[in-house]
Amino acid sequence: MNRKRLVILGATGSIGRSVADVVGAHRDAFEVLAIVGGSDANALASMARELGASFAAIADEGQGAALGEALAGTSIKSGAGEQAVLDAARMPCDLAIAAIVGTAGLKPAFAALAAASSLALANKECLVSAGAAFMAEARRRNVTLLPMDSEHNAIHQALAGHRVEDIETMTLTASGGPFRNWDADAIRVARRDQALAHPNWSMGRKITIDSASMMNKGLELIEAHHLFRVDPARLDVVVHPQSIVHGMVSFADGAVVAGLACPDMRVPIAHCLAYPARIPLKTKRLDLAALGQLEFSAPDEIRFPCLRLARAALRAGGDRPTVLNAANEIAVAAFLEGAIAFGGIGDVVAAILDLMPQAGAPASVEAALAIDNEARLAARRVIQSGLSSAQ
Ligand code: NAD
Ligand code: MG
Repeated sequence: MNRKRLVILGATGSIGRSVADVVGAHRDAFEVLAIVGGSDANALASMARELGASFAAIADEGQGAALGEALAGTSIKSGAGEQAVLDAARMPCDLAIAAIVGTAGLKPAFAALAAASSLALANKECLVSAGAAFMAEARRRNVTLLPMDSEHNAIHQALAGHRVEDIETMTLTASGGPFRNWDADAIRVARRDQALAHPNWSMGRKITIDSASMMNKGLELIEAHHLFRVDPARLDVVVHPQSIVHGMVSFADGAVVAGLACPDMRVPIAHCLAYPARIPLKTKRLDLAALGQLEFSAPDEIRFPCLRLARAALRAGGDRPTVLNAANEIAVAAFLEGAIAFGGIGDVVAAILDLMPQAGAPASVEAALAIDNEARLAARRVIQSGLSSAQ
């Protein structure tokens, strides 16, 4: 069997490391052509050695020399800066994995659509910021999109063998994050360490904060709308603290097909890597009798205003999701730097959505990035001017 040729964008992150873990356990099945990282040259170099990659690209231009030194004595080629990242993304391969965090991942993921047969999408911000343009390009290039986000991966699996026209609703589950049972006032002033302490998943910092604010679930609704071409009114969220059921599809006859697994990103990752086959994975197996109970409840959009804002952006359409996503990235970074309170994240996003008049959906990546940039600048200004309720 020919080995599947991979390009891994965002290889040094939480998703990237889990991808490397699965690939490492199945070396006979995969060949790693290129890996991309942000700024940690040593981590990228050791991963390139471990995976036997042919090319490693680092986004931070200033880290190019360090990467070259760390790879000295190997045959692994290296490059630094945006062009090197795009060169890696454009290497013809069987499967590209988009696991860079945030809008920074948009151009590389878009570039990968030109050269990959399939693209596994972990980076949800791509679809939130430029969903229509991204999906159109994927269709034009005939690239198979494989959802790696656990909820969408479960839904993708639940959809197999069914007709789109028979779908009534799709439901994403949400763990509720660390503040699921907190009251609104306590959430507003939650500390960084509290927001970073996710009960079920160990992930990168940005998505961990998004999970605490439930913006993550809002971004995922927008992601699902684009991936599965389903009307916003048919998309739903249910809070499920155990994170065992990840997503479900309800059909016209009342039947519901759900995807279940223990919360471990290597499960959806392995599904994407091997698709349409399956590869064995030594993960914790689901034991429902030992678990005893699974709980479900409705999400609270008053205590979690970010979910309400994202839902409204999805319904409004046009450039609203692009603006929401950009303002959120700046607000999350500001919270992590201690510049705004946790409750300020939603305040900043709401302020920027109010400030920027609504425009149409960006028809290209460049158009999305222009709106994204404008919203970022506006968000930084609002934060610097000391948005009163955000302090
Ligand atoms: P992370 O912060 O752990 O990793 C991000 C990766 O992107 C790193 O390799 C980093 O070096 C790289 N990077 C950052 N800026 C870059 C730039 N400008 N150019 C090139 N590379 C850059 O994040 P993560 O938790 O692995 O999440 C990655 C993406 O996957 C996010 O969009 C997230 O929403 C999504 N996702 C993550 C999880 C999870 O369990 N971690 C689950 C579902 C979806
Ligand atoms: Mg998810």
